[in-house]
Amino acid sequence: MRLPPNLAPMKLYDNEFTNGEITVNYDPNKCIHAEICAKGLSEVFRTTVIPWIHMDGADSKTIIEQVKKCPSGALSFCYNKELAAVK
Ligand code: SF4
Repeated sequence: MRLPPNLAPMKLYDNEFTNGEITVNYDPNKCIHAEICAKGLSEVFRTTVIPWIHMDGADSKTIIEQVKKCPSGALSFCYNKELAAVK
């Protein structure tokens, strides 16, 4: 059964997570497991919970600031308007 949009899960694909405004992408092949994300914003980047990126844990601006600190480039983000234009 297909869920109505307001009840659709926040997780898009295995490594894509959205809060409706932005989408965070995680590339496990690039991650060097430095845990800068989890140490810097543990409300969003959770190492022991699935899904491990909890987009309701902070506002978009705070999430973006943390994503930009990822040293490997494993984390990236886009605004959902950009995503809609690409897909
Ligand atoms: S900050 Fe980036 S490289 Fe470090 S654990 Fe998080 S995703 Fe991986």
